[in-house]
Amino acid sequence: MTYRGRFAPSPTGPLHAGSLVSALASYFDARAHGGSWIVRIEDVDAPRTVPGAADAILATLTRFGMHCDEPPVWQSQRDDAYARAFAQLQARGLVYPCGCTRREIADSLVHAHARHATLAYPGTCRTGLHGREARAWRLRVPEGDAARIAFVDRWQGPQSQNLATEVGDFALKRADGLWAYQLAVVVDDADAGITHIVRGADLLDSTARQIHLQRCLDVPTPSYLHVPVVNNDAGEKLSKQTGAAPLDALVPLDALTAAARHLGIEAPAARSLDAFYATATAAWAMRFPR
Ligand code: GLU
Repeated sequence: MTYRGRFAPSPTGPLHAGSLVSALASYFDARAHGGSWIVRIEDVDAPRTVPGAADAILATLTRFGMHCDEPPVWQSQRDDAYARAFAQLQARGLVYPCGCTRREIADSLVHAHARHATLAYPGTCRTGLHGREARAWRLRVPEGDAARIAFVDRWQGPQSQNLATEVGDFALKRADGLWAYQLAVVVDDADAGITHIVRGADLLDSTARQIHLQRCLDVPTPSYLHVPVVNNDAGEKLSKQTGAAPLDALVPLDALTAAARHLGIEAPAARSLDAFYATATAAWAMRFPR
């Protein structure tokens, strides 16, 4: 099998110690498997995109010695691919318009679940809009046993989620007219022939939705590995909002050594980027063999 991996940053700010860990883990895994590594700029959420952030991320990856094997893919240029997948799901009768506002969903909330603060959609518009205007478009998830999606994560072990009770029918197209992350990521990974997804554990909770979408679209399911997220001193996931410093200010080898250590990979004596990657990739290969 030809290994194809990816790093898929959202250009909402510069890379920081947390996003470096995800980038590095995906890079180690691709190199340890003798595979290709590509970068996808996830700028589908235009309002959250910060001008210049994507170029800064790409420049930092290069400066830190992570070289992509193909030109980066930009979600903002892939509208047609998302529309085609959406039409395919529509043709299978799996999509319906939803007129609910966030407030209404919260009010009729079945339960909120912590990690991504996603609210399980109670299915209000499954049977029609009841005279309201369409806002978002949702995927009808299965009921009963078919709603349970199970997979084995290479780092986190066996996982299982009931889409009907824990997520509900989820949005493919958002009320603001933008394609939802869940649809874009599945279409992009399939079109790029991604075989292995390595990313932060904050996305573990989205994986069942993505596997289900892959099945609905008849595309292969990649293997998954979710690395622990980096928290700040207050125990919050490190992000620009929680005070992460941009990596540009840091010495690459120091930041890389710290990120590798977070992943359980020791490469303390490396004096050059080449030496660092040689040691760290070999250690990763021992830990996560083919
Ligand atoms: N763009 C997402 C993020 O930066 C990552 C998506 C993914 O790896 O599937 O959190």
